[in-house]
Amino acid sequence: MKLSNYFLPVLKETPSEATIASHQLMLRAGMVRQNGAGIYTWLPLGLKVLRKIETIVREEMNRAGAVEVLMPTIQPAELWQESGRYDDYGKEMLRIVDRHDRDMLYGPTNEEMITDIFRSFVRSYKQLPMNLYHIQWKFRDEIRPRFGVMRGREFLMKDAYSFDVDAESARRSYQKMFCAYLNTFDRLGLTAIPMKADTGPIGGDLSHEFIILADTGESAVFCDKTLLDLPAPGLDFDFDGDLESELQKRTQYYAATEEMHDEEEFAKVPTDRQVSARGIEVGHIFYFGDKYSAPLKAEIMNAEGKSVPVQMGSYGVGVSRLVGGIIEACHDDKGIVWPKSVAPFDIGIVTIKAKDEKIQAAGQDAYDKLSAAGFDVLYDDRDASPGVKFSTFELIGLPTVIAIGPKGFEDGVVEVKDRATGTSEEMSLEAALEKLKADS
Ligand code: ATP
Ligand code: MG
Repeated sequence: MKLSNYFLPVLKETPSEATIASHQLMLRAGMVRQNGAGIYTWLPLGLKVLRKIETIVREEMNRAGAVEVLMPTIQPAELWQESGRYDDYGKEMLRIVDRHDRDMLYGPTNEEMITDIFRSFVRSYKQLPMNLYHIQWKFRDEIRPRFGVMRGREFLMKDAYSFDVDAESARRSYQKMFCAYLNTFDRLGLTAIPMKADTGPIGGDLSHEFIILADTGESAVFCDKTLLDLPAPGLDFDFDGDLESELQKRTQYYAATEEMHDEEEFAKVPTDRQVSARGIEVGHIFYFGDKYSAPLKAEIMNAEGKSVPVQMGSYGVGVSRLVGGIIEACHDDKGIVWPKSVAPFDIGIVTIKAKDEKIQAAGQDAYDKLSAAGFDVLYDDRDASPGVKFSTFELIGLPTVIAIGPKGFEDGVVEVKDRATGTSEEMSLEAALEKLKADS
């Protein structure tokens, strides 16, 4: 992509309504535009990052055996009346009346709808376990939308729903999602801590919130530092294999959300390993048994030929919240520092003395060669000062910038700058290509 053909409305000033770094940087980098309280347009750069995150989330769901569907954003009220949540959900639910006076709503979540789909097609335990997910916009009329996309009203969520014949099998489905989440957040360049969360009336230990550390986070974090250093299960992880031990490895170290925090237990963690901190909830997994399948009568025949309510769990990831969350975790005073896996472009090209024909040709040549090698390249071909060009790429956080100027041109070298380390090296374009291929 050439910047002269792109739409990158960067801002010079930090908008005063933004109080935290990720919100400020998303506005300054031209990633989003607010259209109303908690409602955003995703501009080209922001959309690229959102899609990359979505792709990683999707790949890890698929790897764990979940199957993608796409449910609508608008739902009929009947299903929610059937589960009893229509009245309970409160003002966060956006209620709509259609032209025939039918009550509708913009889905804040999809337990009812997926349970309805399940009950219309599945009858036997032989079709289980089953896990269906979708990645769809949700609407919650949050009382205080704030921090940009982190607490929006319209937001993109991945929600998965597992169906099992009994509690033991449901626990395995839960553990699969637990491991898939660890891999997902790891690929996004994040350290996410699984924290025990409140399970409500169902009890047991099968609810975890996944929290990333950030001073501006809304959740209080109490955990054992050892947890932060545990590697994710990895992409070779066998989901039918050692799930239990993977879960135990983590749950043996203290970690809890604010509501679940037990001072006595936390005091047993050696002082030098105690983390008290703040964090951002990026995912939440939950086993809730027959909470929805019982009222909605989603029953299956078990091996004994008895009809039983299906055992369910739900598993959410805040896809759009993650864009802000990653920036909170990955930025410096110059701007965003994207992890390579989600960067909107792999490489930026900057030309110095861009009007010079030789330089223009060299810029075009570099752009063609890097693109042909499979890199997603943003070429700043504008006639702007090098300072402006460099600071734009620093602000939008591209992992690598290649600078081509008159002096290097004479010597046959380009400058290769690494955003994360701030270091730069001179080398031939061919050597740069080989280095970038080796690093990717
Ligand atoms: P929170 O406590 O932050 O309100 P929640 O418990 O209401 O979250 P869930 O219903 O479990 O959230 O939704 C799953 C995920 O969706 C959350 O972990 C979070 O990452 C994301 N999410 C929830 N509410 C919002 C929002 N208003 N804006 C952006 N993302 C959100
Ligand atoms: Mg909420």
